[in-house]
Amino acid sequence: MKIADIKNPVSTLSGAGPATVKALSNLNIFTIGDLLSFYPRDYEDRSHRVSLNQFELSKKIHTAAKVISHEYFGYGKMKTLKIIIRDETGSASLIAFNRSFLEKSLPVGSIISVTGTFAVKYNELQSSSFEAVMISPDGNLEDYKNTILPDSGIIPVYHLTAGITRKILTKLISSALKQYVIGIDSEVPEDIIKKRALLSKKDAIKKIHQPENLQDVTEARKTLIYEELYLFEKTMLKRAYTHKGALPGIDFKEDAKDERYEISDTQNDFSPKQAALLETLPFSLTKDQLAVICKMNEEIDRGYKERASLTQESTAPLFTMQRLLQGDVGSGKTLVALFASLRVIDWGGQAVFMAPTEILARQHAENIAQYTEKLGIRVAFLTGNVKAAGRKTLLKALKEGEINILIGTHAVFSRDVVYKDLQLAVIDEQHRFGVLQRQAIIEKGKQLFNNTYACPHLLMMSATPIPQTLALTVFGDLDISTIKTMPKGRKPVITYLVSEGHEQNAYNAVRQELDKGHQAYFVYPAIEESEDDSENESIKSAERAFTELSKNYFSNYKCALIHSKIEEEQQSRILDDFRYGKIQLLFATTVVEVGVDVPNATCMVIEQADRFGLSQLHQLRGRVGRGSSQGYCFLIYRKNITENGIERIKVLKETTDGFVIAEKDLKLRGPGEITGTIQSGDLQLEIADFSRDHEILLLAREDALKSFSN
Ligand code: ADP
Ligand code: MG
Repeated sequence: MKIADIKNPVSTLSGAGPATVKALSNLNIFTIGDLLSFYPRDYEDRSHRVSLNQFELSKKIHTAAKVISHEYFGYGKMKTLKIIIRDETGSASLIAFNRSFLEKSLPVGSIISVTGTFAVKYNELQSSSFEAVMISPDGNLEDYKNTILPDSGIIPVYHLTAGITRKILTKLISSALKQYVIGIDSEVPEDIIKKRALLSKKDAIKKIHQPENLQDVTEARKTLIYEELYLFEKTMLKRAYTHKGALPGIDFKEDAKDERYEISDTQNDFSPKQAALLETLPFSLTKDQLAVICKMNEEIDRGYKERASLTQESTAPLFTMQRLLQGDVGSGKTLVALFASLRVIDWGGQAVFMAPTEILARQHAENIAQYTEKLGIRVAFLTGNVKAAGRKTLLKALKEGEINILIGTHAVFSRDVVYKDLQLAVIDEQHRFGVLQRQAIIEKGKQLFNNTYACPHLLMMSATPIPQTLALTVFGDLDISTIKTMPKGRKPVITYLVSEGHEQNAYNAVRQELDKGHQAYFVYPAIEESEDDSENESIKSAERAFTELSKNYFSNYKCALIHSKIEEEQQSRILDDFRYGKIQLLFATTVVEVGVDVPNATCMVIEQADRFGLSQLHQLRGRVGRGSSQGYCFLIYRKNITENGIERIKVLKETTDGFVIAEKDLKLRGPGEITGTIQSGDLQLEIADFSRDHEILLLAREDALKSFSN
């Protein structure tokens, strides 16, 4: 039996009265199974005595003592009992707020066991937070020197709510264990339990609640964490299998290995439209671009071949590509995606590109239209803003297969958008999409064949490198490719740190660049002026800077303002003007953070740079240095910059390697960040923690993959 199958209500346990049941339900505990998988959040080591003279603040005393006398202070209802005690090493007072009943249960002269935290107050050692039970109504302390005190050992600490005490919970769990633990089976196969030196589930559940020593705790935790991660990976792989018709690679760095392709080796592998595009490119592909393209070609072809050889009897899902492509800003991911699109188009299918914003989508559309001008394929653009008549014609053409590539925002997956034969979905900069969201997109292009089906190929693109933990969890159903080599001739952006008050230096440098015919960005943390309450200091705004700087310092240059409160169509127009050089200087917020591609822009000034996150600054900086000219970035930091802020901008000055920056970013933000992203997405963990239990996660993945392929 699985623990989750023990469905008997908690109320059937003796000692679980209505009030207790209600309190438990506040903890989401309804069944015996819930109760047994309500794991302690911590343990208290009471295996040794801690006598009164060993007292430290917040450390618990655990000792045998004699009750010397009872005293009272306060009057009437406020009257409070004070119990004076003495152990072998000293004396202290127990302040029994609202516990006058202790007068009877801890009588003068009795020997008691005391556990609690103490502090020095009014010249004596006092505790108002203690547990105490009588061991004997009288006798000598001497005689209890070596006895085991009640409630000794390793004590589980649970996360409790009002209405339930540890004592009651412990009692309930103990009786649940007695009745049910025998029937609990492991969900991890026997051979893996052996191989990984785990406990059986029975033992693990017993030991997590009733450990005899710390070793028990360690073993039980390891077993339960392993099981949780193993089951998680199995679920993940099952999902992957239904989309992909195959399992994702165990080594998600597979493609980062040095299996490199040379153009000459692979030229024959290009399909007609791919070859035609290659001809027209004014540059050659980087090695990593080529490697990914070849890998994708293989997979797309495999999908078609499986379809072609499909028989009436086939029931397994057909193979498709499910891939995440990570590559630093400017590494040329869009082009790679276009090559994949051409492959499916050559096979007769359609491709769709989805970008997170209208601006990015439009830019993709323009780029791709340029690349494909001479290839004789049809590209269309669709966002929520494409209305009525235009939209109707477009949808009709799409349904009839006259459009080869559709590009747009999430509108490309709206209900009324029907594809004739969608074979590839490219999703840009939306790598935070969870598994379930991906599933919804994939369903859109799912095609049925006799007794089985095929999903469209999926290519997700991310400029933010994916740490290993995410690769095994959020992206555990995808294969991952990495582009590390940058296009030839790219020079790393030179970054200067400028302290507030010395902005003129940066401004002068910008003017020099503009005079050379280049363009520049100014980036601000806010759109309009406002006070930052926490710091009582103003946040610099794009609006204000635009008004001031475009009138005086940069009055000889063509300036424009862009931010998210400006209508999207207007934003697009501004960006177009910037792209075609009609605007030289763009005052912006982080709307320009991702994807904007203007190679002639060589300069970026980020004001109050320490208000931004590390990865965000890296993305922003990625907007410059995209052409053959040297790029510059000026980070202007505030006078009251924090330690963490200094760390961040220093990293940026020292490196332009997105992978180094991403790792540093994760460190500076702490591990909670990863777990947060994952857990808000697709699942809840009871005991495991993806980042903390990374090592176990790797093993669980390996085992789950093996058991799946058997
Ligand atoms: P990102 O990976 O950030 O999405 P893009 O696809 O926007 O990068 O490419 C950045 C720029 O680099 C584009 O202008 C693109 O045309 C250019 N580019 C792409 N591949 C190469 C290459 N192999 N050599 C030179 N320039 C390239
Ligand atoms: Mg891009």
